[in-house]
Order: sequence, then C-alpha cells, then structure tokens
Amino acid sequence: MSYVEQVYQKVVERNPHEPEFLQAVKEVLDSLEPVLDRHPEYQKAGLLERIVEPERQIIFRVPWVDDQGRVQVNRGMRIQFNSAIGPYKGGIRFHPTVYTGIIKFLGFEQIFKNSLTGLPIGGAKGGSDFDPKGKSDAEVMRFCQSFMNELYRHIGADVDVPAGDIGVGAREIGYMYGQYKKLTRLYEGVLTGKGLSYGGSLVRTEATGYGLVYFVDEMIKAKGKSFEGATVVISGSGNVAIYAAEKVYQLGGKVVAMCDSNGYIYDKDGVNLDTVKRIKEVERGRIRDYVKSHPSAEYVDGTGIWNIKCDVALPCATQNELDENDAKKLVANGCFAVGEGANMPCTPEAVRVFLENKVLFAPGKAANAGGVATSALEMSQNSMRMSWTFEEVDAKLKNIMVNIYKNVSQTAKEYGHEDNFVVGANIAGFLKVADAMMAQGI
Ligand code: GLU
Repeated sequence: MSYVEQVYQKVVERNPHEPEFLQAVKEVLDSLEPVLDRHPEYQKAGLLERIVEPERQIIFRVPWVDDQGRVQVNRGMRIQFNSAIGPYKGGIRFHPTVYTGIIKFLGFEQIFKNSLTGLPIGGAKGGSDFDPKGKSDAEVMRFCQSFMNELYRHIGADVDVPAGDIGVGAREIGYMYGQYKKLTRLYEGVLTGKGLSYGGSLVRTEATGYGLVYFVDEMIKAKGKSFEGATVVISGSGNVAIYAAEKVYQLGGKVVAMCDSNGYIYDKDGVNLDTVKRIKEVERGRIRDYVKSHPSAEYVDGTGIWNIKCDVALPCATQNELDENDAKKLVANGCFAVGEGANMPCTPEAVRVFLENKVLFAPGKAANAGGVATSALEMSQNSMRMSWTFEEVDAKLKNIMVNIYKNVSQTAKEYGHEDNFVVGANIAGFLKVADAMMAQGI
C-alpha cells in the first residue's frame, strides 16, 4: 500500500460514518501521489496524516425560544481545520442535514480553496442543523444570538472569521455580528458578508457567482469558446446561482433553467432574474412562484434539471446533486463545460464521465473560490478601516479568478494531466499549505 493509501485507510477507520468527508478526502489524496514522489520529506513529516485531521472541532448546544414560547435545542459546531497559511476562514451553514461529516468535508475543501485564492486564509467551516425555512425573523434572530453566545469565544478577526453558506445570508450575519459585538465590545471584522452599512464589502454578495463565471469564461476561452450565445443551465436559486446567472447574461449567454429543492423552472426565453431575485431575496418564496408572473415558462416538480439541453452547466445548489446519469445526459446533449458553483455538487462518478468525454470541468475548489476571496478582501478593508469601490473589488476578484485558472491549468500540465483541473486544483492548493506546514514544524 502506498503512503497515500495508508493515510486514506486511517481516515476511513477514524471517520467511519462520515461519507461526505471521506469522499472529499479521497478525491484530494488521489491527486497527490505524484507530489509525494517529488517530495519524500512530506511522508517523514507525517504531513498527510496531519492535513486530514482537523486542528480543532468545537461542538455546542444552541438553545432558543420559538414564537410559541417553547424551548428548542439545536447542535452547533465550528471545525477549525488548518491554520498553516492564515487565520481560519470559511462559512457557516444552517440546514437540517448538517452534522460533523458535512462540516468536515466543507472545512477540508476550504483549506485548498482558500490556498488557491493566493490570500492568507486558513480553512474552517461551521454550522447547525437548524432549519431557517419557515421560521419567523424573530426566531432566526434568537437562534443566531444563541449560536453566537458560544461561538464568540472561539473566533476573532485574527483567529477565525466565519461567513455565510447555505441558510446563512445577510440577515443571519447581521444578527450574529450584533451579538458578537455585545459580548466582546469589539467592532472588528470577525465575520464577512456583513451589510454595507457596518463594514461589509461591495461585490461580496455577487462574488461567488461572478467568480465562477469569470473562471469558466477563462477556461472555455482557452479552447476558443465563449458565453456569447451559449445556453446555460444553473441549479439552485440562492446567492451563488442568482449572481452566476447575472454574469452569464452580462457576457451574452442565456440562462434557461434554475431550481430549488422542490423543483425547477424552464424558460426558453431566458430566466428573468429580477423575478427570481424578488422571489428568493425579498419574499423568501419558492421557485415555483416564478410561473405566476411568467406563464409561458414551465415549472416541473422534482429533480431533472440536468435533462435540459445546454452548452454550459453550472451546479450551484448543494453537494452530490449531479450524478453519473445526469452527467451522461449532459454529455449526450452536447454540454461542453461544467463549473461547480456549489461545494462538491458533482459525484466522483459524474466527474469521471465529464473528464472521459473531454467536457471542460471546473472543480468547486477553484471555480467557487471567488466568494471566500472577496471575504478576504473584506477582511483587508476592515483592517484598514477603508472601503473600496465596486469597480475596485470586482477588478481584484476577476484578477484572482484568472490567476487561479492559470495556476490550476499550469499545475495540471506540469504534473502530466493537461486540462484535468481537478488534479491541478488539488495539487496547486496543497503545495502552498504543505510548504507552510513544513516551515512551521509540528
Ligand atoms: N461559504 C463560502 C464557501 O464555501 C464562503 C466562505 C467565506 O466567505 O468565508 O467558500
């Protein structure tokens, strides 16, 4: 058994009931064999054993009072995975499926994603099994305050800087920020994704979606293709999906379908983004409401969005939402590029189908890094007590995404896997962290 396989075996034994975490670890470790051949010193330093084990895992009780006056209890957690290259950084997810296996997979991915941004941020993730869906504003506020009552002692502007993820947007960040300030008296950049009136950065809302499209645009341009006139399917209808769609339109493409966890809409004339924004951002409604104002569009219950013919597919909903059959359908329908806006939305089998069929595939670690990169820009602005203009932040974001593409594609080529951006992203993200870990000792 190779060193890499031995390490993976240990991870399986130590985390037997966490399939998402094992999937994420396996995918990275599988790419690293050639790196270990070039760097035998990493094995002696136990580098891989260290990188797959979180530095710290904090699990806590979150009691809160619902609108009926009953006490509810959720589980909260923050997993501080790796601080080799900077303070811990990564989002917080509120969703009923949250457990350690999900937060560990996300925290592990975050190490390499954050490294790829070129900015000094370590990897972490947090969350709770709390479901904000159907809760009143007051309930969400009480939950967020209680969550922060424990979290505040583990974070700080130079320690660990959480942000949003699924179920955590501007509203939740605001309530958590208010509570942190009350508990610590510190007006510091401890969270990112803040509102613009209290230290947030322009472009942070748009950043993940815009960054995804900047990356995919760079990737397809290298093959002589473009978004101009392209038909695009985007899963999800949250923050990432909405702003990916906005950028696709700006580059001359047409988004024909979007979805939520109940079903999808198909609008052959192009999905109207103002309507989607109103439904999701203002009314906090469901995507099926779209057809009320656009009767010529179709709403279909259930999954199936990947059956729609498109040139470019951007999965922006959640992990493992696009499987082998979906991938085969997309290939059969002529899709030439796929970009992961969500974290690990394509199953390993789906990724294999794309790579075997020469579909250009942008892995989430690289392609969705624009969100956390702009979070790091928010941290810089907070430290300087300054705010940059929209144009300044957008230009920096674009530059970061172009550089990630160059780094990932060059690394893939250097290791003999031209156009395999999965291997390129894993190796390029790993090398910087490995170098920092070696320099700092155990
Ligand atoms: N949740 C986002 C991600 O998956 C953003 C994290 C952040 O901004 O810290 O990268």
